[in-house]
Amino acid sequence: MKKPPIIWTNVLFFSLTFLAAVILVPWYGITHGFSSAHWIAFVACMFYAGMSITAGYHRLWAHKTYDAHPAIEAFFALGGAFALQNSALHWSSDHRIHHGQVDDPVKDPYAATNGFWYSHIGWMLRDYQGDSYSDYSNCRDLQRNKVVMWQHRHYMKLVLATNIGIPLALGLMVGDVFGMLLLAGLLRLVLSQHFTFFINSVAHIWGSRPYTEKNTARDNGFLALFTYGEGYHNFHHIFASDYRNGIRWFHYDPTKWLIRSLAALGLARKLKRTPVERIEKAKAETLMNKTQIRLAKLPLAQDKLTLLQQEYDLLLKKLQHFCALKKQVLEVKKNNMLQQCEKSALITQYHELEAAWESQKQAWLALNARLLKASFS
Ligand SMILES: [Zn+2]
Ligand SMILES: [Zn+2]
Repeated sequence: MKKPPIIWTNVLFFSLTFLAAVILVPWYGITHGFSSAHWIAFVACMFYAGMSITAGYHRLWAHKTYDAHPAIEAFFALGGAFALQNSALHWSSDHRIHHGQVDDPVKDPYAATNGFWYSHIGWMLRDYQGDSYSDYSNCRDLQRNKVVMWQHRHYMKLVLATNIGIPLALGLMVGDVFGMLLLAGLLRLVLSQHFTFFINSVAHIWGSRPYTEKNTARDNGFLALFTYGEGYHNFHHIFASDYRNGIRWFHYDPTKWLIRSLAALGLARKLKRTPVERIEKAKAETLMNKTQIRLAKLPLAQDKLTLLQQEYDLLLKKLQHFCALKKQVLEVKKNNMLQQCEKSALITQYHELEAAWESQKQAWLALNARLLKASFS
């Protein structure tokens, strides 16, 4: 099949900014030096551009995982132009196709099944989308959003205003405009673009798949460090309407913390979370499939498969009981319905069910580990 034509503007833009950054920034650093004020401004600009994409483009607009105050939307719209990753409308449209058609080598705009280079940057270097480039029919909701459409209409002007204006203002503050244009302008632009591209490439190639093995998306805690928390991509692909990507408190997900802080200030609301029951069920199912596939290769595996199924059913039953009671406890607490003694009896039962589920989970994990180990030897 003939490849679509090269988009020379993109090829030249990506290669020239990259070359300029790797040559000019070290040269200026050696000849003139960068002060700590330069570096603070650089990091602040990295976070502003990066999180306008993760908290704004991705979790607010593409997936609608929460609602934000119009002032916050405007802040992200400017930051998205600063990050130079196309308008929020266009980005969201591509991204919704990516989720709907994930890994389809033709339909997924940055399908990882086409390799690292294609999913990282190659997909933007040729006219792969052709006529469908400006088809935003999957973003009718965003077409009704005033901030999104304002940014879409004035996108190029906003790109120039932010990419020149922000480093220029910071440069005047520090007393070194050229150095700041190099660091907070050029280097920040190149790095923050590639860090986002890593989510399409690295997060679909390297990492673990605890929640689903039906697509290539992976959890990669190391990548989360560079992507403001977007490294937990396996979780994200199965529960895309959750405002979190890293769900445990120790998962590095500053985007989640930002959204939660905005909510505490009254600037964000309706934060969507996936119920624990669905998350735990997905994890158990994925592990079970993995063990089943491994066991199926062994002779006389029927007994082991039956045992696995029994333990799995028991795990789900205990999880269900625990979650049902948890719901009841929350309801009672909210409406203050019961007498004190009834309430404490309910809470005792709740802790018992929690412990029963936890211990079944440990047994379940141990059984899987044992069976998987046996299948290797
Ligand atoms: Zn993805
Ligand atoms: Zn997504």
